[in-house]
Amino acid sequence: MTDAELLTLAGELGFDRAAVLDTGEIPLEPAFRKYCQDNVCGKYGANYACPPDCGTTEEMARRLRAYRRALVLQTCWALDGQGAEQIRSAKASHNRMTRTLLDRCGGGLMVGASGCDVCSPCLRPAGEPCRFPELRFSCMSAYCIHVAKLAERCGMTYYREGTVHLFSLCCFDRLEEP
Ligand code: SF4
Repeated sequence: MTDAELLTLAGELGFDRAAVLDTGEIPLEPAFRKYCQDNVCGKYGANYACPPDCGTTEEMARRLRAYRRALVLQTCWALDGQGAEQIRSAKASHNRMTRTLLDRCGGGLMVGASGCDVCSPCLRPAGEPCRFPELRFSCMSAYCIHVAKLAERCGMTYYREGTVHLFSLCCFDRLEEP
């Protein structure tokens, strides 16, 4: 698909904003890994797509840069007072939309708005193998993507009071084996 076709499809699927970048333009900040280790989201060591299981910061960067082009996708959600449950639901919707877009394009690498939620719960805590390795996706944080800088680069709003802005990527044009 051309860049223009990708942007049109993103709009048709309901994304609020979208932009196409070279993966080399995606700002990475390996020091952000410490935020995963702080485990505020509860997925550190509890999800195969999250640190430490997903790989080192270097391995994640290589996985991303193994694709040439990235479609940056944003949805914006006005907060309605439901708190964490609304955000969880919004992330799940955003991830489903991202998967749909990737499937419509014939595949690629998905970077989600949150850690992999294909199974509930993930089988990592039970010590069982990942059930759907071909559908597994890591989140922006697991790749140490500096989302505020990325949003600025794409001309997208990163923060506005009363609104949650969610981001994901679909990466295309494989250059090498990740
Ligand atoms: S596909 Fe299922 S088992 Fe595999 S990482 Fe995702 S949630 Fe966990």
